[in-house]
Amino acid sequence: MKVYINGKYYEKDEAKVSVFDHGFMYGDGIFEGIRLYQGNVFKLPKHIDRLFRSARAIMLDLPWSKQFIMDAVCDACRVNNLSDGYIRLIVSRGRGKLGLSPFTCEDPQLIIIADQIQLYPQELYDNGLKAITVPTRRNSQAALPPMVKSLNYLNNILAKIEAYKLGYQECLLLNNEGYVAECSGDNVFIVFDGVLITPPVSCGSLGGMTRQTVIELAKKLGIEFVEKPITRFDVWTADECFLTGTAAKLIPLVELDSRPIGTGKVGDVTKKLTAAFNEVAPLEGVHI
Ligand code: PMP
Repeated sequence: MKVYINGKYYEKDEAKVSVFDHGFMYGDGIFEGIRLYQGNVFKLPKHIDRLFRSARAIMLDLPWSKQFIMDAVCDACRVNNLSDGYIRLIVSRGRGKLGLSPFTCEDPQLIIIADQIQLYPQELYDNGLKAITVPTRRNSQAALPPMVKSLNYLNNILAKIEAYKLGYQECLLLNNEGYVAECSGDNVFIVFDGVLITPPVSCGSLGGMTRQTVIELAKKLGIEFVEKPITRFDVWTADECFLTGTAAKLIPLVELDSRPIGTGKVGDVTKKLTAAFNEVAPLEGVHI
C-alpha cells in the first residue's frame, strides 16, 4: 500500500509526518472518510465540500483547489490498484513550534490513505447490533461543533471506551440537553409507525454523507421522513433503528440500553433502505 503525502507516494512503513505537526500534537486538522465502490469514488465532490467547510470552521486556509484534491484522491486509488476500498483524506495544520498557536505552522499536510475497510462482521448486518447510552455527552455546539470533522475525536473515543468497558461495540451519545446526538462514528435513524426519523444535525451530529443518501432514498421510495429531535425513549420504543456511516454503510441496531428495539430483529424499512443504498452507492461516484 502506498500513501500519498503532499504529492509523493510512500510505502506504508515510510509514510511519516513530523512529531511537530500540530495535527499530531493537538489534533489540529480535519479529515474525510470516503468510499470507493466499483471504481467510483462515492459522492467525492460532496466530501470535498464538507472538507472545505471543516477547514473554514477551524480557520485553516487550504492551499489546494477542490479539483486538485479530487484528482489526488482518484490518483491514490489508481496507484493502489483499488476498485473497492476506503479512502482516508487528512489535512493537518502542519509543522509548528511547541505551543498552541497555529500561526507558527508553515505547511498544511495533505495525506491520502486508500485501503480496505471492514468495520463489522456480516453477522451484525444480518442480526443487528446492540448498543448502550454512555455518560460522555457529545461535544457542545458552543465548544467544538460536531459538524466539524476534526482530527480531535477524543469525545467519540471516550464514548467508545465506555461502551467497550460495558461489553458493547457501539454506543449512543446524547447532547448536553439530553437529546440523541449520534453514535460514536455514525448517524442514527429510527422508524416509528412507518415514518423514518433522524435528529437534525443541530442536535449534535455530523452531517453524514450516508445520512443524506438515506434521506434522498427514503423520498424516492415513498417512505415518509421527518427530521426532529429524539430522546432515548423514542429509540427504546421505536419499531426499527439503524446507524449510517461511510465505513459501516447501514447497520441495524436491535437493542439499546438492554431494551430490544421493535421485535429485536432487523426491520423491513431498514432492509429496504439497505438494499436501495447498496444498489445506488456504486452508481453515485466519480470514476477514478
Ligand atoms: N458521525 C460521526 C462522528 C462520524 O465520524 C461519521 C463518519 N464516520 C458519521 C457520523 C457518518 O458520516 P458519513 O456518512 O459521512 O460517513
